[in-house]
Amino acid sequence: MTAKITLLGTGTCQIQSERMASSVLLEIGEQRVVFDMGRGVTQRLLEYGLKSDDVRNIVFSHFHPDHISDLIPFLHAAAHSRIDPRKQDLHLYGPKGVRVQIMRLLSLFGVDELERDYYDVLIHEIRSESFSINRLQFDFLSLPPANNHGLRFEINGKRIALTGDSHFHDELVKFIAGAELAVIDSGHLSDDEILSAAARSQAKTIVCSHLYRELDEQTLSMAAKSRGYAGKLIVGRDLMSFNIG
Ligand SMILES: [Zn+2]
Repeated sequence: MTAKITLLGTGTCQIQSERMASSVLLEIGEQRVVFDMGRGVTQRLLEYGLKSDDVRNIVFSHFHPDHISDLIPFLHAAAHSRIDPRKQDLHLYGPKGVRVQIMRLLSLFGVDELERDYYDVLIHEIRSESFSINRLQFDFLSLPPANNHGLRFEINGKRIALTGDSHFHDELVKFIAGAELAVIDSGHLSDDEILSAAARSQAKTIVCSHLYRELDEQTLSMAAKSRGYAGKLIVGRDLMSFNIG
């Protein structure tokens, strides 16, 4: 099986045209999973060429607006779009409390606006450190703050780790250690913390996402190398893809 990882958004709550809120699309074999759906992510899905029914599974790292807000336009279009009406069930996953939070969100507009009776929106609270979607196994591990959880899985023995929002701490280093590909929240980390995470984890490729400030890839890479980091440091851009075979 192969996997393709595409950055749908590499930004934050900051309104920017070149960086939508941070989100990652996983295409693993025939399965697709969207990790987080904040501002502008529905637009990026369209630009990538996906229709509503192509997205069956969305995992939320936590319940901050920049990780969940585009669920509203996504569900609204699913229910009422005349050019791309939805027909397939949609599965939403998130940490403890996600059911209540999503029900609150839906209740703001009423069921008629955001749902139809010919498909279901199913909410799954992830209450342990691992879960599966159609036989694909994922780790779902706490990476503070704000009840944030990182998503991690393996394909052909290669580990892919996505942090959502995470501050710098030992859990972060452990979470991305030895990964083939790690997409990290670099916006909540100082340059020094990014370098430390790289050197300590030795993840093969680290992609900086959730960018509150622009990073200089070359300067950062050279500094990482001088700290003993043997991998590759990349500053993410929206719609950048990585193939894991
Ligand atoms: Zn965020």
